[in-house]
Amino acid sequence: MHPKQADILIKNGIVLTMDPDNTRFEAGVVAICKDKIAGAGTASQMTAWQAAKVIDAGGGIIMPGLVNTHTHAAMTCFRGLADDLPLMTWLNDHIFPAEAMLDADKVYKGTLLACAEMMLSGTTCFCDMYLFTGDVARAAHVAGMRALVGEVLYDFPSPNYGPIEKGFEYTEQLVAQWREDPLVSIAVEPHSPYLCAPDLLQVAFNLSINHAIPLVIHLSETRSEVEQLMDKYGQTPVGFLAARDLLGPNVLACHCAVLTDADIDLLQAHRVNVSHNPESNMKLASGIAPVPQLLEKGVCVGLGTDGCASNNNLDLFAEMDTAAKLHKVASGDPTVLDAATVLRMSTIDGARALGMDALIGSIEIGKQADIIVVDTHKPHLTPMYHPASHMVYAARGSDVDTVIINGDLVVENRQLVRLDTQQIMADVLRIAEAFRKYA
Ligand SMILES: [Zn+2]
Repeated sequence: MHPKQADILIKNGIVLTMDPDNTRFEAGVVAICKDKIAGAGTASQMTAWQAAKVIDAGGGIIMPGLVNTHTHAAMTCFRGLADDLPLMTWLNDHIFPAEAMLDADKVYKGTLLACAEMMLSGTTCFCDMYLFTGDVARAAHVAGMRALVGEVLYDFPSPNYGPIEKGFEYTEQLVAQWREDPLVSIAVEPHSPYLCAPDLLQVAFNLSINHAIPLVIHLSETRSEVEQLMDKYGQTPVGFLAARDLLGPNVLACHCAVLTDADIDLLQAHRVNVSHNPESNMKLASGIAPVPQLLEKGVCVGLGTDGCASNNNLDLFAEMDTAAKLHKVASGDPTVLDAATVLRMSTIDGARALGMDALIGSIEIGKQADIIVVDTHKPHLTPMYHPASHMVYAARGSDVDTVIINGDLVVENRQLVRLDTQQIMADVLRIAEAFRKYA
């Protein structure tokens, strides 16, 4: 047998491929050549493979990296700044004044901290909405993380780009600048129907179609948003977008915590993707997205943490656990959102929600090598009857041992390979001093 040469070989783990058949390899091996997955199978199927770098999974889980479909990464700067307050007090007295002090450097350093936290807890790709997005993109690039990022657009002037016309220009510049990047891609990101006039939303939608890039928007997050739209337009937020032909498979709708049956039908009919953010929705008492109904209709739903001010971490393992349990108690049905479904939401379905499922989200030959290894040799993971159950209900982000993004080893033995964790934390600690007056 001719030997086959890989750059990295991961062996001695249970491979959860998350392919269409949920194929699983016991005592599995994954071969990586350059930035791509070159082979995956059982040890006996993979005997021909050798590599200079061999990673022993120690009997743990080898699976695709997790995909965080909605966050505001730089809000790590506001982690725990203010909690347990009415929404408007929280926003007006704490978050908005602190955000007014942001600049490009703070956003860059806050995003680097988010990347560190995400990679150490097994997330390999995130979708971000924030200000100073050029610096968000730069941080993801430096960290070696895959990211879909966009500059938040709204009716009032932005501290980054000024008037909205400049916001569209800024977005187009980002698209041009990052077009060839292997890790960072750009989305157009109007904040929400309550902060964006119909004209703004129309221009944003056209940009999305013309550049063939996703449109990311907060949609139907709270009851008060729905009431505002009903007062102003006589339509729900989803109905308002549908009536103006602003829904489609290019749209990622974040939250969708307050939906009518008609809204669900519209999301299905227009093949809109949804980002479900259970912990943020719970913490801000926004509502419970009707995820079981959306899934029943075939709507693609990914998982997201939202920003650190309303979560207060970026650990998708915690988010999976919360999502699976929230819908059981909300529906009175312990069979909804089973572990296998939730694990797909945080991997392949998250990738699909971002329009990246041809690239990432599963361990299949030819896809980009975004792979994590979870160490299951721990008291809280012993014994293991059902690997998917453990990933959703028992594992924590801190159980992630190894992370590979685009074929690059970025976390090894629970340590960041290319970032200085101590320096990143020290930088944000210094920045946080300025925000302390709003705590
Ligand atoms: Zn958000």
